[in-house]
Formats: sequence, C-alpha cells, structure tokens
Amino acid sequence: MIHDFTYLKPGTVQEALAMLTDHVDDCKIICGGQSLLIVMRQGLIVVNYLIDIKGLKELDYIKYDDKEGLKIGATTTHRSIEFSKLLKEKYPILPKMEERLASTQTRNWGTIGGNLAHADAAGDPAPVLITLGAKVKVASKKGEKVYDLGEFYTDLFESAMEHDEMIVEIQVPPMAPKTGCAYKKFNLLQNDMGVVGVAAKVTVDASGTITDARIVLGNAGVTPIRATSAEKVLIGKKPDDAIFAAAGEAAGADADPVSDIHASDDFRRHLIKVLSKRMAKQAWEQAVK
Ligand SMILES: Cc1cc2nc3c(=O)[nH]c(=O)nc-3n(C[C@H](O)[C@H](O)[C@H](O)COP(=O)(O)OP(=O)(O)OC[C@H]3O[C@@H](n4cnc5c(N)ncnc54)[C@H](O)[C@@H]3O)c2cc1C
Repeated sequence: MIHDFTYLKPGTVQEALAMLTDHVDDCKIICGGQSLLIVMRQGLIVVNYLIDIKGLKELDYIKYDDKEGLKIGATTTHRSIEFSKLLKEKYPILPKMEERLASTQTRNWGTIGGNLAHADAAGDPAPVLITLGAKVKVASKKGEKVYDLGEFYTDLFESAMEHDEMIVEIQVPPMAPKTGCAYKKFNLLQNDMGVVGVAAKVTVDASGTITDARIVLGNAGVTPIRATSAEKVLIGKKPDDAIFAAAGEAAGADADPVSDIHASDDFRRHLIKVLSKRMAKQAWEQAVK
C-alpha cells in the first residue's frame, strides 16, 4: 500500500531544486514513476513529499554538435531516444538498445534520467552509455557537478548523488572514426530486465588493429562492471576468433555475478563470456566496415 504523501509539481528546474533542498530528508523525485511506484507500493520507500519533474520541458531534449557531442536531458523518454533520427545517425546503439527495454508503455513514460538514477544493476542504458564514455550532470541549489557514469554507481540501487541533487543531463563525447558498438542482453522474457547484458565498443586503425576497446557488463555484479582485462586482451590486436574468445574468458573473470531466482552465478558467468566474445566481435566488424 502506498502511504499518503504531499505531491509537489515544480514548474522549473530551479523550483525543483529548491523543493529538494526544503524537504531533503523526506522527499523523492518522481518522473515517469515506472520504477518508483513499484517500490512505493511494496512499502520499500516511504516519504512525505513527492516532487514530480515529469513536466519539466527544459530537461526534455536530444542535442548534438560535432565538438561537444551528445546531450540528452533527464526527462527525455526512452521512446524519444528509440525514435530519434539524430541518434540513429550518430549513436545507433542507443535507439537499438531501447527497442528491447521494457514494454512500449514503459518506454513511453519512463525517462533516461529516472532509469540512470534508479541504479538497477540490470538496467540497459548504463552499460551502453559507459562504453560510450558518458558523463552525467547533476544539479542542486548549490550548483552543478559532472560525474563520469562509469564511477557514478556505488552499490545496488545506490549512486554517488547526494539527496539534494538531481540528474539534469547525460553527456556523451563524439564517436571516434572507425568505431563500432554492440549491446545484447540475455533475458527470459522479451522486453524485460536482462539476466545479464554486455556492451562493447571497439575502435580500429586503417589496418583493422584495435586501438581502443571498452566492454561493460550489466547485472554481472551490484553495479555495471568495466571488463578491463577483456579490454586489454583486445587492444593492440588485429583480432581473430581466438582473440575474441580470450576476451570473453577475461570478461567472465572480471564479472562478479550473484545467484538469484533467475540464474545461478555460474550460468551468469557463462553468459557473460559468450556475450562478451560476440559483442566484441560485432563491434569490431562494424568498426572495420
Ligand atoms: C515492466 C517493466 C519492465 C522494465 N524493463 C526494463 C528493461 O528491460 N531495462 C531497463 O533498463 N529498465 C527496465 N525497466 C525500468 C524502466 O526503464 C525505468 O523504470 C524507467 O526508465 C525509470 O524512469 P522513470 O522516469 O519512470 O523514473 P521513476 O520511476 O520516476 O524514478 C526512478 C528513480 O529515479 C529517481 N529519479 C527519477 N528521475 C530523476 C532525476 N532526474 N534525478 C534524480 N533522481 C531521479 C526517483 O526518485 C526514483 O528513485 C522496466 C520497468 C518496468 C515497470
């Protein structure tokens, strides 16, 4: 049962930040409510004030320029990302990832800011955005801070954000030339959270040798995990199937999975090895095209 609360509807970001400060120990932001309402219904979160930022149009945007890269406002819905022509052209991995994130209804209402703030280790956007080198801008009444998304998560459902802060923007640097990106989750139900997910980004030189690689594992631990030993296996190589398999093995060792009702830790580690091998290869194939 959801406990009574006072509903606050700020008209601007500044107003939202003032409300956050005023009720810092006893409030929660709500945006699409797609995750928050579930935990409120379960009685896991009880607050006296809900600050609804869904209507903040000033945070609903997708912008790009060649110098600064991509900027996505926090209240941008998953559906807007999925259908963005700009993203299909510049960062096609993001709309593709969205296609299998939740149901159409959830994508219509849930937001990228809410997804990243919720800090579910099984969330799809974080591993993909971390491979892309994303940063997350948060704001409070005191000012703004920018976190590297790869360092934003501290534990299961926990981030480095302070209670008086909210996410306002996601920033992604421009893609280097000859770069490919791939993401896949393994799940039991289509369009639900992954048992595990793997994102890979690979950059090559003119000869097809890998000059940069990033592999990020989702739901392979309590936060997204950067598979740095797998990346080291790839960098400097003109890869073949044995190299991709070695990268997959290394990613399995980088993972720290737990057992739950969906899968054992062993099965998760096996999936991570297979998906890391495949995603690294797919990213490389795109990069050398
Ligand atoms: C049936 C179902 C299936 C799903 N499947 C997937 C899936 O396959 N993959 C996946 O990644 N996700 C999945 N989700 C989760 C969904 O993506 C998230 O619920 C949604 O993106 C959260 O956005 P929201 O705007 O609804 O956030 P809310 O539910 O409103 O908020 C979520 C949390 O973030 C906080 N918050 C919201 N916005 C901000 C902000 N700007 N700054 C700071 N804190 C903020 C809230 O206080 C709350 O703690 C699924 C959800 C459902 C209900």
